[in-house]
Amino acid sequence: MLQKGKTMAEKIYSIKIKEAFTEKNGCPICALRTLLEAEEIERILGAAMMEPDIRKETNRKGFCKGHLEKLFASGNKLPMALMLSTHLEELEGALFKGGEKKAAAAYGAARKSCYLCGRVGLFMNRLLDNICYLYAAEESFRTLFAEQPYFCESHSAALLEMAEKTLPKKERLALSAALTDCNRQYLEQLREDLDWFCKKFDYRYAKEDWKNSKDAIERAVKYLS
Ligand SMILES: [Zn+2]
Ligand SMILES: [Zn+2]
Repeated sequence: MLQKGKTMAEKIYSIKIKEAFTEKNGCPICALRTLLEAEEIERILGAAMMEPDIRKETNRKGFCKGHLEKLFASGNKLPMALMLSTHLEELEGALFKGGEKKAAAAYGAARKSCYLCGRVGLFMNRLLDNICYLYAAEESFRTLFAEQPYFCESHSAALLEMAEKTLPKKERLALSAALTDCNRQYLEQLREDLDWFCKKFDYRYAKEDWKNSKDAIERAVKYLS
């Protein structure tokens, strides 16, 4: 059933969720993910870098390729170098202690592990849970939800999965129908734009206007990835 009292963290999530849903510029959950990820990168390269508990975790888990690139792009080179140095120290221990027989498994485990992926995954779970909660609890949020341009493919799947786990049937079906309405309209328009984009390569349409089709491929890629 619906959660009754909300913790401080959940209230903070609710504020961020409502702000993102008010933007109405692309998938609101993509925007929230980008925001939370940027906040977490700033945190671990800032004060949290000196916290022993967090440092222990980053030493043990390391980072995936995408997150290493984002950490590097942030420009905070000294904290990053300090963090990587102690991570490499721990990694050497893990990779070489088991001898040749365990080397492949140790490299495989290191490659799959990422501190930031773990944190972002945790946040996303709380966010999706909170979106479902707000949908069931607040009429004004239901209105805002229905006004979204679209929900990208992966976040549609994640949100429906969370609704399945946390909402009673009536609310779950209402959320699913609202999400479907947003995406149906968006995809119909997107397909129309893609078709027009293709037609523009036919000499008969060469002189016609591009209409809204110039960035149709980019929009399709964004929706699908
Ligand atoms: Zn998304
Ligand atoms: Zn990662």
